[in-house]
Amino acid sequence: MSLSTPPGTSREGLTGFEGQLIGPEDAGYDEARAVYNGMIDKRPALIARCATPADVARTIGFARERDLLLAVRGGGHNGAGLGTCDDGVVIDLSLMRDIQVDPEARTVRVGGGCTWGEVDRATGEHGLATPSGIISTTGVGGLTLGGGLGHLTRRFGLAIDNLLEAELVLADGERVRASADEHPELFWAIRGGGGNFGVVTSFLFRLHEVGDIFGGPTFWPVEDGAEVLAAYREFLPGAPRELNGFFAFHTVPPGPPFPEEIHGRKVCGVVWCYVGDEAAATAAMAPLLDILPEPLMHGVQSMPHHALQSAFDGLYPAGDQWYWRADFVNEIPDEAVEIHARFGQEMPTLKSTMHLYPIDGAAHDVAPADTPWSYRDARWGAVFAGVDPDAANVSQIRKWSIGYHEALHPYSAGGAYVNMMMEEGQERIRASYRGNYERLARIKATYDPANTFRVNQNIQPAT
Ligand SMILES: Cc1cc2nc3c(=O)[nH]c(=O)nc-3n(C[C@H](O)[C@H](O)[C@H](O)COP(=O)(O)OP(=O)(O)OC[C@H]3O[C@@H](n4cnc5c(N)ncnc54)[C@H](O)[C@@H]3O)c2cc1C
Repeated sequence: MSLSTPPGTSREGLTGFEGQLIGPEDAGYDEARAVYNGMIDKRPALIARCATPADVARTIGFARERDLLLAVRGGGHNGAGLGTCDDGVVIDLSLMRDIQVDPEARTVRVGGGCTWGEVDRATGEHGLATPSGIISTTGVGGLTLGGGLGHLTRRFGLAIDNLLEAELVLADGERVRASADEHPELFWAIRGGGGNFGVVTSFLFRLHEVGDIFGGPTFWPVEDGAEVLAAYREFLPGAPRELNGFFAFHTVPPGPPFPEEIHGRKVCGVVWCYVGDEAAATAAMAPLLDILPEPLMHGVQSMPHHALQSAFDGLYPAGDQWYWRADFVNEIPDEAVEIHARFGQEMPTLKSTMHLYPIDGAAHDVAPADTPWSYRDARWGAVFAGVDPDAANVSQIRKWSIGYHEALHPYSAGGAYVNMMMEEGQERIRASYRGNYERLARIKATYDPANTFRVNQNIQPAT
């Protein structure tokens, strides 16, 4: 443990801290302050890598007594950089990564600092899984607290729909368990309301039987974007819920497993995940594939769920520059299809992308007010992500992402998935929670009246 004192903070209040304390003059500070999005360059006064819930409580008290801004970091993946802050204290949960699978009870208990890859591998050993996202390096904490959309959404719902309980440290340092029976209002709020209500030190998720899935990408030339998207929008809502398929624009990376002749080629396509075997998957995909031209690549196969989850990891390592925009979408009219087709062809860099994540199937079994995640009637979550390793290209990726979003926003449902927004202001946050915002604000006033947890898509305490 480092004992040096960062400017402006005395560490006396952290006596007994069991984890690691890292300040600006400590070796490893730059590594410790870096988050996934290379565009975020914040300099906290102190990074507290907590080892226990007691460390978390000590650090919250430390920051509050000194009136320092407090950020909480799970996997550090947030596009807007909400896992860190300038000049304040960061609670970094990366030492709290315990994972306990209970195959009998079909549950997994997960430390607040875990990333999805390690959870998926541990549950996969038992032929079990819980819904997460599409990239294995994303944090369980932020993804779950914001909702959690991914390969298993249509079959088993959002990550929050499978959350059974959570252990939290509250703003006053109290440790509580939130579930349907204990602190039920708090339990409601953390299923979509983000890190506004406390620091989650462990999550308990329901597991489902998920043996090998059948999945991977089907790619067509980007020039076929309008035809493929128009067919996809008609096909997907009627497809069986075992079949998840998100529509995407991508550029084919220059390496295996992609055939050399399409390296560097802009494509549109669907990334599939069928929970079941090849024969059933092929039959489920056929109504779409049969009416479209021969694809450039149909790279589907049986594989463990965690293998599909990790498929994008190599393409998107930590440190790239990311600029995000997002919207919920109910329908994709012909005019919107044409706009997609145009911006798909104008993707500015190899890693820039647009995804349409399905929100139907099991996600529609939950009513809009059952959790804060109010857009249960939406059909897709659209994300427009400008991505490049080179900081010199930031204005280019930003311009494309914003232009694409603004052109399509009039066709959207209004709000956006909070986990895929930048810092876009209160109006946008309210639009994303719709009628659930006021209840969230009342719960915030009960559990965090001073808004200690405000480095997030912030819910303002009701007055
Ligand atoms: C490459 C990439 C792929 C993604 N893919 C998906 C996807 O498929 N599906 C999807 O739904 N989302 C996806 N996301 C978005 C992702 O859900 C958000 O970025 C999320 O905020 C990441 O969580 P984190 O813990 O890694 O982030 P962090 O930056 O650590 O934290 C994000 C926010 O959550 C809070 N937080 C995190 N952990 C805790 C905790 N234990 N207790 C209290 N508050 C906490 C933080 O305070 C902060 O406000 C992706 C993001 C990236 C960069």
